Amino acid sequence: MAHTIRATVWNEFRHEKTHAEVIKVYPAGMHVVIAEALNKDGGITAKTATLDEPEHGLSEQVLKETDVLFWWGHMAHGEVDDKIVDRVQQHVLAGMGLICLHSAHFSKIFRRMMGTSCSLKWREAGEREVIWCTKPGHPITAGLSDPIILPHTEMYGEFFDVPEPESTIFISSFEGGEVFRSGLTWTRGAGKVFYFRPGHETYPIFFDKNIQQILANAARWAGSTPRQVIDCTHRKDMGWFAKK
Ligand code: ZN
Repeated sequence: MAHTIRATVWNEFRHEKTHAEVIKVYPAGMHVVIAEALNKDGGITAKTATLDEPEHGLSEQVLKETDVLFWWGHMAHGEVDDKIVDRVQQHVLAGMGLICLHSAHFSKIFRRMMGTSCSLKWREAGEREVIWCTKPGHPITAGLSDPIILPHTEMYGEFFDVPEPESTIFISSFEGGEVFRSGLTWTRGAGKVFYFRPGHETYPIFFDKNIQQILANAARWAGSTPRQVIDCTHRKDMGWFAKK
């Protein structure tokens, strides 16, 4: 039996304290809804962490015990301590999975892992989004409807300034005609990184069964890498190769 995936769902948890429209949809916070969905899946145990906790809830110990880290941020990207970003980056390079959701495209950690501006086009008009699978057979796509239709979302459009992904899992189209690469994967060091577009805070997107299935699939996919040190070692001689 595969071992249980330990997920930590990080949320800046600010909109849910300050914006009435968001409190209506996510009174306990998006991180709680996401963690509950992951915990319903047999193979995953999910905890939460938020910006206002000491060390943003991401102590060395918490990260050591995390196989995959989910990240949702928007209005407070700048308040994330660079020291914590360094720490998360080191864990990703050593094999921790990282799943960045929606407006986390502009988070410090995602931009750090990408090395590009991560900018995109956007419009908030409650448009319908149609999410098409472009990588059937990939573990992240298991058990989904195709297409997935979200009746109301914020639009994100190309060009999305990220490095060429290893896999493009989903492409979305919007009522206004724009398209967007909504599910993208990379490897950084030993760690797997997944960016997933849906998840605007004023719509109940994280309650959607297909979206919850994607998050659980992604946790299993990104969270199954054993930790390892990728190091620069000095090979002094070729003696290891000589016959004894
Ligand atoms: Zn948004």
